[in-house]
Amino acid sequence: MSRPRLEASDYIQGIRAEKRYVLSQAITLVESTREHDQRLAEEVLSSLLKYSGNSLRVGITGVPGVGKSTFINALGPFLIAKGHKVAVLTVDPSSKVSRGSILGDKTRMPDLSQYSEAYIRPSAAGSTLGGVARKTRESMLLCEAAGYDIILIETVGVGQSETLVHQMVDCFLLLMLAGAGDELQGIKRGIMEMTDLLVINKADGPNLESARMARLEYQKALHLFPVPESGVLPQVFSCSAEEKKGLNDVWQAVVNYQQKTQASGYFTSNRRQQRLQWLHDTLGHYLEQIFYQHPIVRQQLESLEQKVLAGEESPARVARELIRQFQQKS
Ligand code: GDP
Repeated sequence: MSRPRLEASDYIQGIRAEKRYVLSQAITLVESTREHDQRLAEEVLSSLLKYSGNSLRVGITGVPGVGKSTFINALGPFLIAKGHKVAVLTVDPSSKVSRGSILGDKTRMPDLSQYSEAYIRPSAAGSTLGGVARKTRESMLLCEAAGYDIILIETVGVGQSETLVHQMVDCFLLLMLAGAGDELQGIKRGIMEMTDLLVINKADGPNLESARMARLEYQKALHLFPVPESGVLPQVFSCSAEEKKGLNDVWQAVVNYQQKTQASGYFTSNRRQQRLQWLHDTLGHYLEQIFYQHPIVRQQLESLEQKVLAGEESPARVARELIRQFQQKS
């Protein structure tokens, strides 16, 4: 089934005119694996690059059930009331969502999805987490060019995806629950070190007191971690996403973080570093594609894999030899 295709200029003008349906189509283009679509997406992205970047990019993570979607559903309208335009993107490596079916996220964030100033896009489906992250980054630039000045990137709590989202945002927020016993249990050290702001959610009803205690515990515990690269010590807050309480303080802390890092120069240097990282990630991805699609590699890989599997050859030697042949025949 083919539908009328837009030209690069249609995407560019449509996005600059802040037309949501054109933005959606452009993100679909970015997510496409077809060669023609990818080239068109590159053209659109390069032209729009100069209009991107004028936003605050916030990563939001936490285990499933912690209340991420409830939190975003409450925070979004709060930000819109302050005059912002809010885009919500999701990085979920397990996502099988195909284009167009954004119903899932609409029901997850029913209030926010009512606003014309909000744009909610579920995770791209992808075979690799790196691929999903790359597409999310590009989608983020498109959203910025379409005038969204707050980008919320939600990630499910599975190790690597947090690291990748951390590499594309200005401020990283970890949602947590007050638990019984050792408050730090189950929290991987790596995540704590990436966190700029820790928020204990579900501070309501019978949880109110334990949330207050957890807040103090975490605040103390965070002092044990080295001062982050940003130079800003992470703070701990509690809130109730369900009752929409405490959101103001959380957001104020995000804004304070932004102001402090902008004043110190870290905000800019971090974004520069992220762009460089992005370049290298992309280079790595393209090189891998070129390598694996090369006839010599396609021809030989399977039998070499068998030899490695059987323990007849060492992986290092096989890899070096295959690369040598690839270089000779390229
Ligand atoms: P996610 O998987 O992290 O996106 O979590 P959800 O936003 O789907 O929330 C999981 C469950 O926790 C839902 O049943 C929510 O209604 C509930 N929940 C979310 N935030 C709060 C809160 O602040 N207080 C209470 N009591 N429940 C909440």
